[in-house]
Amino acid sequence: MAQPLVEKRSRNPTIGAEERRRYILECNNESFDTRKRVFDTRERAFDTRERVFDTRKPCPLLLRPPPLTMRLLSANQILQIWEIGQAQHPLDRALTLLSFALPERSLDDLAQFSIGQRDALLLTLREMMFGSVMDGFAVCPQCGEQLEFTLKVPELRIVEPMLTIKPEYAFSIEDYTLQFRLPNSRDLAAVVRCPDLITAHQLLAQRCIQQVSLSGEIVKTDMLPDTVLNQLGQYMADCDPQAELLLDLTCPACNHRWQVLFDIVSFFCTELSVQAKRLLREVHTLARCYGWRESDILSMSPMRRQFYLDLVSR
Ligand SMILES: [Zn+2]
Repeated sequence: MAQPLVEKRSRNPTIGAEERRRYILECNNESFDTRKRVFDTRERAFDTRERVFDTRKPCPLLLRPPPLTMRLLSANQILQIWEIGQAQHPLDRALTLLSFALPERSLDDLAQFSIGQRDALLLTLREMMFGSVMDGFAVCPQCGEQLEFTLKVPELRIVEPMLTIKPEYAFSIEDYTLQFRLPNSRDLAAVVRCPDLITAHQLLAQRCIQQVSLSGEIVKTDMLPDTVLNQLGQYMADCDPQAELLLDLTCPACNHRWQVLFDIVSFFCTELSVQAKRLLREVHTLARCYGWRESDILSMSPMRRQFYLDLVSR
């Protein structure tokens, strides 16, 4: 495997807990603070209200996507991804997943995708693998009520997945003109160990700003005032609207309202983990009964494997 973006400090001890929770709505990219994109899921919690969610238009600077070809993951690949992912930070885990669906792309290529671009690809792959409906789960922070709701991939996908990278964006404010690119997986990996958000923002800006000019004269990036940096952060978020999705939840028991970040990396990896363990149990059952090899069992179609499992359980 290629060098990971983020060295994991310890073996993942929480996979069991992860699987028990099954659906995780939390942020792995918390140091990347962008303008919030909010979906209202009240009607999903109650199933009574008309669906309302923010469909702010994607930035016109985004390119039209070319035809996209992603490959379905085989049973054997699901197990490989699950195994490799155990020792990986979520940033690397996301790239591992995409590398199996887009084998003609190197990990380095995939790491260049903006975070929103990466997530749009992951959403599409998830839809290809498990369908467009996703079951969400959250606990009310006020009263502990457990909420279950459904999400649909097309509603969460703000931009179409694409494989081309727009190398440069421009932003003007006051007398400043900035050329920048969108933060990608490598940028997030670089700020993941920052001690605080301010340091992370500064480092992210340094990495993503390509040129700054003040009244036509090129100046250094560190000359930029905080107000300009903040405005740039918001503009970057507008240009990469898929990078952060917030679900707007309302508790049916106490009417408390709050927001949770929808993290497709965590969600999808948890689902794959469940799937991987199910596959291993199936291999165990069939190998013990028939003496078949793991590779032969995994290469069967799911339908054929299920047929034999039904015979075994009779
Ligand atoms: Zn509540």
